[in-house]
Amino acid sequence: MNAVAKNDPVCYTSPVPHSFYVHIPYCRSKCRYCGFNSVPAGDNSILESYTRALVAEIRSARPVKLDTFSDTVYFGGGTPSILSPQQLGEILAALRGLAPAAAGAELTVECNPETLDPAQLAGLRRLGFNRLSLGVQSFDDALLALMGRPHDTARAAESFSLARAAGFANIGLDLIFALPGQTLDGWRRDLDRAIALGPEHLSLYALTYEPNSEFGILNAEGKIERVPEDVEADMYLAAIETAAAAGYGHYEVSNFARPGYRSRHNLNYWDCGDYLGFGAGAHSHLGGRRWANVTDPMEYVKKAEHGESARGFEETLTRGQRLFEAVLLGLRMTEGIDLAAFTARWGAPPRSLSPEQWRRLERGGLIVEESGRARLSRRGLLLADGVLARLAPESDGRSSP
Ligand code: SF4
Repeated sequence: MNAVAKNDPVCYTSPVPHSFYVHIPYCRSKCRYCGFNSVPAGDNSILESYTRALVAEIRSARPVKLDTFSDTVYFGGGTPSILSPQQLGEILAALRGLAPAAAGAELTVECNPETLDPAQLAGLRRLGFNRLSLGVQSFDDALLALMGRPHDTARAAESFSLARAAGFANIGLDLIFALPGQTLDGWRRDLDRAIALGPEHLSLYALTYEPNSEFGILNAEGKIERVPEDVEADMYLAAIETAAAAGYGHYEVSNFARPGYRSRHNLNYWDCGDYLGFGAGAHSHLGGRRWANVTDPMEYVKKAEHGESARGFEETLTRGQRLFEAVLLGLRMTEGIDLAAFTARWGAPPRSLSPEQWRRLERGGLIVEESGRARLSRRGLLLADGVLARLAPESDGRSSP
């Protein structure tokens, strides 16, 4: 196949994005809680077709400024490490053709333990990946089996050691809490096991019951026993306290890092920065314009084979939408929002988004303004999703500015 999108080639002027995202929607199998855009990979021919489609899409994006560079590249999924180093190398070469990586650029690849061995890890290092995000999710074999994960605890620990041996000095671990049947003590043991490995970064998420997942369906039918809300809250607080005691700074609702190891790629998202996404379902954001590719991997590949644009959705954000996203993302950061810088950038203070709701949240002790910053309180962090939803412009009956 030699497919280059004929329709609507993407041309970028200023501002030029410094972050690239590549979505690999394939995994060994489908986890029972998963609501992500991912499907079981099947045979290698599917991965080959997908790699060709990605390369075609990236080559069809034509930056105007050829001397631009990329600060962060993030391969997410799905399970990007299911691709061979050869396939990943072809995609990276296409990205470098679009914009060379800056010296010191952060190149992250999401990996799952069942896909890692010394040869794969050496290949990832040779390609220039310098940050590895490892989907461990739990150190309890019974819970891993319940979740439908294809690895066990021993494999997770082994893959971490192999990654260190291969030279990865920046490794993040992903863990999930509030799993069905999980106890607070069990979660504390998971945290201890994770910290004992010594990762640079921790992403700690409460389980969400996605409607399109097997767990979500079982939950809707009342066939799964959820962890009580107060226990889930205690688990989150235990995560914050345990991570802090071990030297991990809590910098975003669900993310913790040793000094100097925050995820630069995600910081760009939370700062409402520009980025280009490639692959099935990948989103892009550039100067207030946002678009996304078709979600279905087969449809995405077919479009590439026919030389068509993969874009499935596009919009220009209104001022109200941009303000809302800036507040929403800014409050996810534990340091909160610098009020003067925010007002200078967006032309209005955060509270202008929804003044009445803001006042109520302040009175309720969920949002705190002090020392020139606005942030969620400890209780606000516990209820973050609900608090942030209440700031939507419609929630107090006002229309978008
Ligand atoms: S490995 Fe991740 S993306 Fe793949 S099915 Fe499991 S949860 Fe979903």
